[in-house]
Amino acid sequence: MSEHAPVQHFIRTIIEHDLASGKHKTVVTRFPPEPNGYLHIGHAKSICLNFGLAEDYGGRCNLRFDDTNPEKESMEYANAIVEDVRWLGFQWDGPVRWASDYFPQLYDYAEELIRKGLAYVDDLTPEQMREYRGTLTEPGRDSPWRNRSVAENLDLFRRMRAGEFPDGSKTLRAKIDMASPNINLRDPVLYRIKRAHHIRTGDAWVIYPMYDYTHCISDALEGITHSLCTLEFEDHRPLYDWVLDNISIGCHPQQIEFSRLEMHYTVTSKRKLNQLVAEGHVAGWDDPRLPTIQGMRRRGYTPEGIREFARRIGVSKSENIVDLSVLEGCIREDLEAKAPRVMAVLRPLKVVLTNYQDGVTSSREAGFHPHRPELGARLVPIHREIWIERDDFMEDPPAGWQRLKPGGEVRLRYSYVIRCDEVIKDAAGEVVELRCSIDHDTLGKNPEGRKVKGVIHWVSALHALPVEVRLYDRLFTDPDPDGHENRDFLDFLNPESLTVVQGWIEPSVRDCPPETRYQFERLGYFCSDRYEHRPGERLVFNRTVSLKDSWAKAQA
Ligand code: ATP
Ligand code: MG
Repeated sequence: MSEHAPVQHFIRTIIEHDLASGKHKTVVTRFPPEPNGYLHIGHAKSICLNFGLAEDYGGRCNLRFDDTNPEKESMEYANAIVEDVRWLGFQWDGPVRWASDYFPQLYDYAEELIRKGLAYVDDLTPEQMREYRGTLTEPGRDSPWRNRSVAENLDLFRRMRAGEFPDGSKTLRAKIDMASPNINLRDPVLYRIKRAHHIRTGDAWVIYPMYDYTHCISDALEGITHSLCTLEFEDHRPLYDWVLDNISIGCHPQQIEFSRLEMHYTVTSKRKLNQLVAEGHVAGWDDPRLPTIQGMRRRGYTPEGIREFARRIGVSKSENIVDLSVLEGCIREDLEAKAPRVMAVLRPLKVVLTNYQDGVTSSREAGFHPHRPELGARLVPIHREIWIERDDFMEDPPAGWQRLKPGGEVRLRYSYVIRCDEVIKDAAGEVVELRCSIDHDTLGKNPEGRKVKGVIHWVSALHALPVEVRLYDRLFTDPDPDGHENRDFLDFLNPESLTVVQGWIEPSVRDCPPETRYQFERLGYFCSDRYEHRPGERLVFNRTVSLKDSWAKAQA
């Protein structure tokens, strides 16, 4: 897929204005994941937005971990996130950054706020703090510790850092306004005491800064110009600005909010994804049914297709719920143009070509892609016994059936026209074999005196290789599994989201490495499994997406 022109949106307008007015000479953005889970399609939107803007305007984008919750974070998550961003096709400026790299500066700025009388050490318990906070309709009340002297606050904060107080017994709070209509400004906590091992700083710290305090300072230290986040942070913006206005840092990024991406037929909350994995409803974080980047990758989605999706859905402040079919459409379009085409039979039915000479193989050359000659060609062998798709034969078909039926004719893709002469059944009445004859005079030309419309895919039984194919469908049967009162989202799990079949595939794919994508003719797009496919030994393919949107039909 060629890269399409950017779609204009309000953030681009702001940036263009800032560049034109000379407010900024360049654009610096950042993608700030917390390493507390795997990234999903919503994060992909944010990645494409942040890195995309930097690319479009010749600026820079940082990758910075927001690692301020040591108990929930791990290097496993961080490593996967780094890999995901790179896989999507983006390169961050300089090294991977960590909010924890700034712990010393964050601490110094906290002392500065204390010295200015803008922060204080509080002894309220978490329950008391909640009580004092007030509600949306009632103002909060001042903590009895709010008016400690600067000297006492400095002393206590230093002792908090030195580990003199037990976990949770004290906090450092900003001194703003307990009566503010914005609850985020009612003396938010800046630091808490927590003896937790941190993935980067180990046990060096027993106090950890809160997200809101950390994020704005990290942005400023990195010279971020536009700090993009999702809409739930709109009410936090006054705090973002308050912190930067009250410390001597000399850089004040602009926070801009946009709406989260949500998708029908799936879930994108980290908590729900975690539950699906932890309770074994899926095989892991990279289960191809999950909207995680690792899952989408394993399924065969392309970075180009995902980036095109992000471009198409755009950026705004209004609700952004997108049907899965939009994403699938982008993937399909990308693969249509790129994926070599081969033949595989997923639910095999044996066909004996009775008038084909036994023991002889003949082969015809066939190109891998009708519009991409540079993808080359391979030989498609034929032999006396072949496999066809079970549902390409019907004993008693409806009118207009163009595939195989008793006495009927069909063309084998890239090969002869065959006629079904005899249907063989087992004791239970099931069709187990067809006996067909070929019309020898139909190779590369139409048969004499009649039209044969149907074309089916097939493989030579002697030459085909066994293949395991995993057919994935949507994980949920409901567009909004999470949106029903009194019903758990798990109630809507699609019991048919995974079907494993053992089929046959043409020999040309024998040595393809993991993560090779093909179109299996007439069946869809497939990708060799990243972990379980072993070239030349065990062929395992995942269905990425079908050729057409079967859900659109089913729902209509
Ligand atoms: P949590 O709910 O645990 O905070 P999160 O999904 O916000 O998780 P982060 O790691 O904090 O995860 O997200 C990193 C960045 O990705 C943030 O800037 C966040 O706003 C953005 N982001 C997360 N989810 C979406 C989404 N659904 N659509 C667009 N951007 C998102
Ligand atoms: Mg978050």
